Amino acid sequence: MTSTTHQMFALLSALVLLSLYPVSLGPLIGTMAVIATMVGALTPDLDQPTANIWRRLIGGNTVGNIFRAFSGGHRHLTHSFIGIIGIGWALEWAIYNLLNPAYTQTALGVWMAFMIGYISHPIADSFTDQGVPWFWPLHFRIRIPPGPEEVRVTTDSFVERVFVRSGIIIVGVLLLQTKWPILLALFR
Ligand SMILES: [Zn+2]
Repeated sequence: MTSTTHQMFALLSALVLLSLYPVSLGPLIGTMAVIATMVGALTPDLDQPTANIWRRLIGGNTVGNIFRAFSGGHRHLTHSFIGIIGIGWALEWAIYNLLNPAYTQTALGVWMAFMIGYISHPIADSFTDQGVPWFWPLHFRIRIPPGPEEVRVTTDSFVERVFVRSGIIIVGVLLLQTKWPILLALFR
């Protein structure tokens, strides 16, 4: 999936979860949570050497290559259960151990938003041709549906850019028709 579709799917996932478990974070933290959801959705693909951030950072190509080598290549560690648990645990550890305790609760709210975005990413990728090695380092990949290949989404195809994205928007709009107050309450 492209980064645009990943961010849209992440926001929709967050909206679904928010409508099930409403929270109020206030205007500042609420906005940070929305941004964290989108950043989380982009993070698993940082193992791609072509990821924009690596191209823009000074020395980024080198850092990107090291990150990629470390994570076992594109769509491996970062898209697996081990990777999800690892990054979630590392960030949680940092919040509890490196941050001023006064900010712990706030940071955990933003952490949760980041993780929702992050986890939504391999879920979305599971619907693509290549699938996702959820159980990496085991090699087999989960593909939804398992077959035939024609019914899965090809990354950056017309199907993804038009049908998948419109589908996400339609579901989001339908959801917001009844859940709008819950979204507003997030920022209160
Ligand atoms: Zn991916």
